[in-house]
Amino acid sequence: MEHVVIVGASLAGLNAAETLRSEGYTARITLIGDEHEDPYDRPPLSKQLLTGEWDADRLPLRTTDELADLNLDLRTGRRATGVDSANRVLHLDQDESLDFDGLIIATGARPISLPFGADLDGVHTLRSRSDALRVRSDLEASRRVAVIGAGFIGAEVASSARARGLDVTMIEALSAPMLAPLGEELAKWAKSLHQEAGIHMRFNARVADLLGDRRVEAVVLEYGSRIEADTVVVGIGVRPNVEWLADSGLTIGDGVICDQYCRAAPMIYAAGDVARWPNGLFAHFRYASPQRTMRIEHWTNAVEQGMAAARNLILESRGKPLEAFAPVPYFWSDQHGLSIMASGITSPRDEFRLVHGSLDANRFAAIYGLRGHLTGVVAVGWPRMLRRYQALIRDQVTWEEALATAEEIER
Ligand SMILES: Cc1cc2nc3c(=O)[nH]c(=O)nc-3n(C[C@H](O)[C@H](O)[C@H](O)COP(=O)(O)OP(=O)(O)OC[C@H]3O[C@@H](n4cnc5c(N)ncnc54)[C@H](O)[C@@H]3O)c2cc1C
Repeated sequence: MEHVVIVGASLAGLNAAETLRSEGYTARITLIGDEHEDPYDRPPLSKQLLTGEWDADRLPLRTTDELADLNLDLRTGRRATGVDSANRVLHLDQDESLDFDGLIIATGARPISLPFGADLDGVHTLRSRSDALRVRSDLEASRRVAVIGAGFIGAEVASSARARGLDVTMIEALSAPMLAPLGEELAKWAKSLHQEAGIHMRFNARVADLLGDRRVEAVVLEYGSRIEADTVVVGIGVRPNVEWLADSGLTIGDGVICDQYCRAAPMIYAAGDVARWPNGLFAHFRYASPQRTMRIEHWTNAVEQGMAAARNLILESRGKPLEAFAPVPYFWSDQHGLSIMASGITSPRDEFRLVHGSLDANRFAAIYGLRGHLTGVVAVGWPRMLRRYQALIRDQVTWEEALATAEEIER
């Protein structure tokens, strides 16, 4: 293998490049990213950057020296426009093409926008460093903020805006924040958390329009009620960046469809938010999608899958057996000074049990089960408990075994 191309110069792509080097691949690596910055971190964009605790100079994932040591041909501000997977050619903007021996696709995801209001000043989605700097500068000059969508990003933006002392309204189509990933009981807890922090809430509410002349002035809900706002942040989910792969010969669905090795085609892999693959650890459950595949939009997965894809590319190039990628997914979210940590599959589920601590004290661990097995855990203020149950999920214990462990811990 003489040339590996990685598309997406962010978390998954960078970790893939580092792994190629640490596994002994010394030949050419081209890392292509359409953003202009060197790889930077996204979690602080909705947290420390918005509250003003951090400046953008703390965002880079690696120092200039660390990047130089990787000896990459790093091309920022360049967009991949297509792949010919049969002939192993990558097409770039500016009419350039690159032959490759191995390809890793790590193009992530982008926010979904509302079908109206995007041209009004003060209306934002949040994915990139420049998005976050624009939101921050608007928050600095605002009094009233509306956050549309109470998923993790929306809930974090609401929390950060509130920490700045702003008047914040959270608007959500479902009946509570983070309902899909946490389930009813914990979503109810999350609702009180935001309420106690002084955030106004509009649940079961659909946004019909955004009003304003040049700048946004109000959010209009179905049935006509109106919420005044000088800044609106829309956090209604993301879509994987796959359109550029339409004629690639690869299978594209909601993501780049891969096998259990993160492989989309011979010598072509995908990793991070853009990759959809069957996680063998959960193969016996009905979960996530009818194809029993997962696409994970979290930091730790981007790191681990970037590394796994790179390792398997090297193994394939050496004619060695590949290693299945079967992690217990993990993520965290910081809201109102608490860190919500979750691992495994927390929704949909058949079983839920608060096993340690109390919701009122904002310190607890709760577990989730599917078809008689432990599948997920959520912990707040208790990282040790999260790790404990995460290990049990990895060991594929039954629901009864998980409950027995919980009882033993409580004794
Ligand atoms: C505001 C925010 C807060 C978050 N907070 C948390 C958190 O608290 N906890 C957690 O677990 N996760 C969090 N996440 C999620 C986490 O950051 C992502 O899962 C992670 O960034 C995914 O990494 P990635 O490399 O797969 O994709 P991305 O980070 O999306 O990177 C993909 C890169 O590819 C580029 N690209 C796309 N198409 C092309 C193309 N055709 N050519 C060239 N380049 C292209 C993109 O511009 C981008 O730079 C957060 C995300 C955001 C946006």
